[in-house]
Amino acid sequence: MCGIIGYCGPKPAAPILIEGLKRLEYRGYDSAGICVGNNGELNVVKRKGKLQVLDAAVPADFPGWYGIGHTRWATHGEVNDTNAHPHIDRSGRIAIVHNGIIENYSALREKLEQDGHAFRTETDSEVIAYLLSTLYEGDLEQAVKQTCRILKGTYGIVAMHQEEPDLLIGARNGSPLVLGIGDKEMLLGSDVTALIAHTKQVVYIEDGEVVRVTPTSYRTTDLGDRQIDKRVDTISWELEEIEKDEFRHFMEKEIFEQPESIKRAMQGRVDHEHATAHLGGLNMSNRELLEIERVKLVAAGTSYHAGMVVSYLMESLARIPCNAELASELRYRNPIVERNTIYFVISQSGETADTLYAMRELQRKGARVLGICNVVGATIPRESDGGVYIHSGPEIAVASTKAFTSQLTALYLFTLLIARMRDMSYEQGLNFIEALDSIPALTRSVLDRHAEVEALAAKYCRAEDFLFLGRGINYPVALEGALKLKEISYIHAEGYSAAEIKHGPIALINESTPSLFIVPDDGLREKVISNMKEVKARKGPVIALAVEGDRDVAAIADDVFYVPKAGELVYPFAMMIPLQLFAYYCALQLGRDVDQPRNLAKSVTVE
Ligand code: GLU
Repeated sequence: MCGIIGYCGPKPAAPILIEGLKRLEYRGYDSAGICVGNNGELNVVKRKGKLQVLDAAVPADFPGWYGIGHTRWATHGEVNDTNAHPHIDRSGRIAIVHNGIIENYSALREKLEQDGHAFRTETDSEVIAYLLSTLYEGDLEQAVKQTCRILKGTYGIVAMHQEEPDLLIGARNGSPLVLGIGDKEMLLGSDVTALIAHTKQVVYIEDGEVVRVTPTSYRTTDLGDRQIDKRVDTISWELEEIEKDEFRHFMEKEIFEQPESIKRAMQGRVDHEHATAHLGGLNMSNRELLEIERVKLVAAGTSYHAGMVVSYLMESLARIPCNAELASELRYRNPIVERNTIYFVISQSGETADTLYAMRELQRKGARVLGICNVVGATIPRESDGGVYIHSGPEIAVASTKAFTSQLTALYLFTLLIARMRDMSYEQGLNFIEALDSIPALTRSVLDRHAEVEALAAKYCRAEDFLFLGRGINYPVALEGALKLKEISYIHAEGYSAAEIKHGPIALINESTPSLFIVPDDGLREKVISNMKEVKARKGPVIALAVEGDRDVAAIADDVFYVPKAGELVYPFAMMIPLQLFAYYCALQLGRDVDQPRNLAKSVTVE
């Protein structure tokens, strides 16, 4: 979850490390630090809080040409200067940064304490530095390998030694690590955004691998010293894509990018001539696709909500049983893998630990697992049996927006593909494609009316509790709307099926608890309108998202935001945009840290 950066090359390391950490800020962190090696000594600066604090504490002429940096998202031990990484061994000769959790750290620490090591921090990570110092016999790479054999848990590690200048050793088990190959310089990072300003040539380090890096060379081996030949990949993202441009926040930029990002997710994949979709990355023949009897969508957080939307779509269009499931729950309930079931794991980063581990468990049981991911080359796409990239471009804001609508787009295309192999006729296929083609313009016209949502946010952002209510395919949209509001404005919000409120949540309704209803003109409209009346009868304020011209809704609700009329099944796109904007503007009015909300991390690489 936290960020790692390492540098060795001809330039002063400190500014490069700080700049790399800034690129990783979006992942969420609570403290940061750097260590730079110079003339046989290591110098460390680390600070609790934002990077500006660290930046201000690092002297302008901090000397040294190789070093490591870290943004910490505390798992073990308080958030303070001491617990921040890098950690140094007792002799002060070895420094490490660590991303992840060392599960056997208490036993290791006890043993090391008995041997006379006095620990300085409360972190699990510090044992790595101490183990390295115990095992070091003049070769840092060997010491790292021996240490890795002892460690249990997840880690991305980068280590350096004061007497082995210009050398970084990286190791990985469960936490991402990428090598960036520059011109007479090398970088290591926990994701490619940290490297992109310096190089586009990268090598993804896999679990169980150790990489030895100098300014002009790298070598990857396993823990048994066997050399591993690695492929060099080229990052397709541009540096401009990770800049904010004229927007105040990355989240604002990403919300407004959706007409384009949705279009990119569709590009080259819609076959108008045959009224179907082409998704080459699935690695499945038509015959195999035809044999699918069930679809399961496995994910966490926002991606899980995307999966839920698609479960409604899949059953209604393809008539295939489909359900979404939380990855963290699936993994530990000894899932039953049935024949002819296809699993999709959905993760923006492709590194979400809960989702990744669920995928591996399913694969161990013989399931075919496909990935729906954004970050090219991430662990899930590498280890899955195939999948679809959503091509959103980098999503930097912690709260996911454009990835959600692009995940939907990719899975809508998959639904079209297998629906057409079953009962969906050519004409029905064309109608569905027409609806899909309308989505970019639909979302654009909703975005054009952002000022109306801003006014609603100004009116309601002081409420302490919210209910978000929808039905059918828009029920998960209500869940996602509530999640967005919670994540970035810290207003308590609950998402429910509108039908469910009478079974409990209606007890919460009073004059100061607004309910936000999603009311498309689908088969459930009348039912939702009745639910709105139930809330109004109890004096609850009602905000409605309805379809242009719906006067019945306007007659009941206190406020209405209208979306253009669209195909029934694409309303989740049209309804999601105002909910994202609503959360954004509420957070803005309340002065929240929109892009890096408290306690959250972008890519959740711990369980
Ligand atoms: N478990 C380590 C700590 O609490 C590393 C956490 C992280 O990945 O940032 O310091």
